[in-house]
Amino acid sequence: MTIGELIERVRSYTPSAPVEVIQRAYEFSAGVHKGQRRASGEPYLTHPLQVAGIIADLRLDVPSVATGLLHDTVEDTLATLAQVEERFGPEIAGLVDGVTKIGQINFTSREEKQAENFRKMLLAMARDIRVILIKLADRTHNMRTLGHLPPERQVDIAQETLDIYAPLAHRLGIYWIKSDLEDNALRFLHPEVYYQLKRSVAKRKAEREKYIKEVLSALLKKLAEAEVEAEVTGRPKHFYSIYQKMQAQNLLYDQIYDLVAFRVVLDTVGECYEALGVVHANWKPVPGRFKDYIALPKANGYQSLHAWRSRAAPATCTAWPSTAWPPTGATRSRAAPRAATGSASPGSARCSSGSSSSRTRRSSCAR
Ligand code: MN
Repeated sequence: MTIGELIERVRSYTPSAPVEVIQRAYEFSAGVHKGQRRASGEPYLTHPLQVAGIIADLRLDVPSVATGLLHDTVEDTLATLAQVEERFGPEIAGLVDGVTKIGQINFTSREEKQAENFRKMLLAMARDIRVILIKLADRTHNMRTLGHLPPERQVDIAQETLDIYAPLAHRLGIYWIKSDLEDNALRFLHPEVYYQLKRSVAKRKAEREKYIKEVLSALLKKLAEAEVEAEVTGRPKHFYSIYQKMQAQNLLYDQIYDLVAFRVVLDTVGECYEALGVVHANWKPVPGRFKDYIALPKANGYQSLHAWRSRAAPATCTAWPSTAWPPTGATRSRAAPRAATGSASPGSARCSSGSSSSRTRRSSCAR
């Protein structure tokens, strides 16, 4: 990633935004991090650049992307917060300060209850939700490059990621960050499981892709017959969720079939239930495995229908009322691009059933 590519990426989703501050933040960061290196031996600047890239993948605003470039300047260089404020103004300085403060807290407890307290504290501390999103981007890049740290540090950071940051990403509905964090955590906490899964999943790749294709076309056909217009996607489950399932049900990989999730995105809540009817009529449901998060939304505002199929993939039906998602008007994430565009009329919903082929899509839910 170069600064030019970063600016292009930001322009692609916010063409009229003043991106000049991103260029300035890059130059400032390059200046103060000069001579520093990452554990990998790369120039330090690669890290803030990659973090800013992930922030752009989340489609956050220009101050957030600039903060990505600046996020380690106060913590790790001679630069002061006052300098950042003087050059970039109070908004960006406030974001840098928030990210720096979170970085100074050490989450060491392994207890679930404590971890929950930490997560709550983080959310309360941040006040501006962008601080949390920037921190998640920071952690995502650090997890991707964790292999360069000493083994004890790897385990500590991976555990903290699993206890604190992955659940935060989950709560915010950013599925692709959550999966990225969890899979990398698994790689360092249980490498034998991770690499075994990787081999097994690779072995079944062709079979799985064929299966996804078949189900997708069948699903589209059935929905079309019912005159339900939908966007349908399918994706393999990520490693950590397979691992959790193996743990919970004491199964071997070969005994697990629902490794694929499908998502159907629709325009209204009514269509969600119609699509669910189509799914139920054509694929046998698993008794007791159905969740209606439309009637009973999750605490974060997430709304969808989750329906499990045996052997045939689980289908989910997901809806985001355009008025309730994303959590703040300022943040747009890939977690809900259509809802975030504001193209839905107030009170209407983006609704889906099934799930998708890439983790860069909306959060999903099927298991
Ligand atoms: Mn960092």
